[in-house]
Amino acid sequence: MELRATTRTLELAEAFGIARGSRTNQTVVQVELEHEGVVGRGEASAVYYRGESVDAVVDFLTTTAPPLVGDDPFALEAIEERLEDIEGVTGGRSALDGALHDWIGKRLGVPLWRLLGLSPVAPHTSFTIGIDTVEGTRERVRRARAFRALKVKVGGAEDLERLEAVREEAPDAAIRVDANEGWTLDGARELMPELIGLNVEFVEQPFPAADIESFDALKEVHPRVPVIVDEGCQNLADVAPAAAYADGINVKLAKSGGVREAVRMIHAARALGLHVMLGCMVESQLGISQAAQLAQLADHVDLDGHLLLSHQPFTGLGLRDGRLVLADAPGLGVEPTTTTMEGTDGR
Ligand SMILES: [Mg+2]
Repeated sequence: MELRATTRTLELAEAFGIARGSRTNQTVVQVELEHEGVVGRGEASAVYYRGESVDAVVDFLTTTAPPLVGDDPFALEAIEERLEDIEGVTGGRSALDGALHDWIGKRLGVPLWRLLGLSPVAPHTSFTIGIDTVEGTRERVRRARAFRALKVKVGGAEDLERLEAVREEAPDAAIRVDANEGWTLDGARELMPELIGLNVEFVEQPFPAADIESFDALKEVHPRVPVIVDEGCQNLADVAPAAAYADGINVKLAKSGGVREAVRMIHAARALGLHVMLGCMVESQLGISQAAQLAQLADHVDLDGHLLLSHQPFTGLGLRDGRLVLADAPGLGVEPTTTTMEGTDGR
């Protein structure tokens, strides 16, 4: 089995602001796994807010992982076990996991969603409205008319004014709010009646992941909108603790390290009565299609990372009436729009 990894900087169509800052591009890691004449591809972003770096992910994929992967891409459980104790590279494990699943699907001639027993039509995805001025927010919402659900990034000075503007511009849309750890307990308490008045569906990660006390205190506020944990819930071990202080979890492959752990998290969340959200980082169609294979299992789909890009290095993932539509092609169902991966020496 041969593994190749490279970085690719994805340019955003416009600046994207969240509570932690604003960005105009996102560097991801892409993997090619070649075995017996079949090439599987995967992609992931480093989980930067957990201290993961693109360099560490590339080093993992090119140096640490190859001798541990073995020579049987079907042996997913064993491969996962051999790699699971390597710290700080869940994005790398997810990219590799995507390539393994893509390889298996291509080898068998079956789309991954079919291999998993799932449907190619996903629930409606939300479209993300980054932090902006009130007028800029209005403009972004007007351009997002095709989407039935909007995820509004908050954590700035004008959160309430912006949310009121979103509701005015999109009276029928589901509005979800993501504070990316940027709120305080007092601020959240104050905003809660307004969020209910604006019919906000839920709030994602209002407080820092470690500030469980604030989550516990918010739980005592009635009425309130449901609280979803993102940054505070990385993998299966985090699901039961999250059930003690929140109402749902946001599952992302870059955090879980791949499809199998994500499925385990989803079932654990169901058993604990939690809402299940399926999210993403800023990724191309390659990374998004990995997560989208599982979309049928989620209550709330938030897989729009590729829709924020200025151009698409991969193609094959559809969008119809605000829903992602998975290709009928084998594996992940996406292919590069260029013939070689940037940074590789050409094949
Ligand atoms: Mg989030």
